Amino acid sequence: MPSITFFKSEEIAPKSWKICNGFVAETNTFYCYLVEGQDYALLIDTMMGWGNLNDFCKTLTDKPVKIVNTHAHWDHIGGNFNFDSCYLHPRDIALFNDSVNYTKQQIFDVAKQMAKDEFKNLLELDDNYTDSKPMKIFPVYGGDEFDLGDKKIEVIEVGGHTAGSIVLIDRKTRIAYSGDACNSNTLLELPTSLPVAVYMKSLLHLKEFQPEFDMMYGGHEILDATIIDEAIETVAKVIAGTDDHYEAKGMFGTPVFYAAARVKNGSERVDGKRFNMSYVSENIFEKNDTRQIIR
Ligand SMILES: [Zn+2]
Repeated sequence: MPSITFFKSEEIAPKSWKICNGFVAETNTFYCYLVEGQDYALLIDTMMGWGNLNDFCKTLTDKPVKIVNTHAHWDHIGGNFNFDSCYLHPRDIALFNDSVNYTKQQIFDVAKQMAKDEFKNLLELDDNYTDSKPMKIFPVYGGDEFDLGDKKIEVIEVGGHTAGSIVLIDRKTRIAYSGDACNSNTLLELPTSLPVAVYMKSLLHLKEFQPEFDMMYGGHEILDATIIDEAIETVAKVIAGTDDHYEAKGMFGTPVFYAAARVKNGSERVDGKRFNMSYVSENIFEKNDTRQIIR
């Protein structure tokens, strides 16, 4: 009988690991990252909440672990609840609190759905799942730095996918930990996404740091830093109204547009480039009123 591998890790740079769930089908890729320094280790995102990530981190490091979330979507905060605090950009705190209503049963059900066939019936509703709960959130802003002792990791604000999305740069290893900020399926179609024109400003801000990293290790994909150039080129076309305006079904089943045309029955770009972004026509331009309205 195969045993369930909740976590797999791979050392991507000295004392820096990519972690994923071992039992899920290859099409469901969720990554988080652990970077160990002299004084403490930084866990960047926590995936879906399947297995005890706190226990797993102890197999990789004996340093204390701090958590930072690149943004507050469930597939990046699910494992937070095995810990007692996290760092997050304040503009994503509301989104975080909205996510904190998942029960152990719901988290387990999704695990079962996404598991490889051979593991589906082996999964049980046990201590590998935990109810989500409110937790202590410490704010981080652009320019802040996690000083791990012998490594410094800087926070860059790249709002778009969510208002509080951040990218974390480790200059020593030339890695940017990028969450969902810029990839081949950057979702800006969501009700909590920022306007495309604001995202463009974030990309230009990220571009300033591009000389300092080679790779972007994201929540679902690993890309090299030139993806930022493709992003700027593609997003500029959306703002100019000259993009491919490719109609597709969005996350919630409603029609959305992709900036670049995709191949039939696939998600790759027709022109062979990698960056792509979903959006809705009502959320391209900056609003005159950018206040947060609490309803
Ligand atoms: Zn996300």
